[in-house]
Amino acid sequence: MKAEKASTSLYGQTLHYGNGVFEGIRAYETPDGARIFKAKEHYERLLKSAELMHIPVGWTVAELIDLTVELLERNQLSNAYIRPLIFLGENMTLTPVSDSGLFLCAWEWGKYLGTGLQRLSLSPYRRPHPLSCHIEAKTVGHYTNSILASTEAKKRGFDEALLLDVNGFVAEGPGANIFLEKDEKLYTPPLGQILPGITRATIIELAAELGVTLIEKPITPEELKTADSAFYVGTAAEVSGIKSVDDYVFPLSWEDTIGAVLARMYNLKVMGQDYHHFELV
Ligand code: PMP
Repeated sequence: MKAEKASTSLYGQTLHYGNGVFEGIRAYETPDGARIFKAKEHYERLLKSAELMHIPVGWTVAELIDLTVELLERNQLSNAYIRPLIFLGENMTLTPVSDSGLFLCAWEWGKYLGTGLQRLSLSPYRRPHPLSCHIEAKTVGHYTNSILASTEAKKRGFDEALLLDVNGFVAEGPGANIFLEKDEKLYTPPLGQILPGITRATIIELAAELGVTLIEKPITPEELKTADSAFYVGTAAEVSGIKSVDDYVFPLSWEDTIGAVLARMYNLKVMGQDYHHFELV
């Protein structure tokens, strides 16, 4: 259906209280047509998010993938960002809703954080407490925290925010996970206080392929500000180098970092091309 022909109730629980779940997926143009990267993993996370939020979903992962392929074909899109949103029907109270809708749309979209290196600032906002919500779910309402952090950082002249968790450890960006490089090893915050990113999991696989030591552990702001380099990863952001956090500038130039090698591997992997020939020099 054409988006302008679609309609939904103004009394939906998602619109009023933020209880809905969504995904962000990318498709890439390849010689064999559009290739949807990790569609299964994204739709599994969508159904998991829905389950955690008590949202009924009438579609299986396989059906959702078929619908996505059809959406891209009908709109003749191949380099696309795909947005499935499960939204709830009418309910002005705080009780579960028995009917949900699927809004599946796609558009052509370039790199989310731009092609330059990011100048970040540690946000005064913390990621939501994992005992107050299901932080591992991609819930609509969680993004008010992301929007606050991002807006606040941009108002102070930075490109993007970086949020700490409630214990004061480095957590993630408003829409991306973070990795650090220190003494030729990679570090990333463990699961528990962050969205379990699908790109994060891919980068962990690629780091193993490259023979790089990858350590998942809580990272203090002091450790962050003595690291050699850092990068954001996400479906929209892909692999995006970070120039600085507040007034700390990462000393390695981006081209010389493990992140830059992983970015090249990632770009090949999403296209379904061979990425096994990389080595660290
Ligand atoms: N953290 C947050 C808060 C996000 O919104 C995203 C984007 N979905 C990510 C991390 C990265 O997740 P993924 O790699 O699955 O896109």
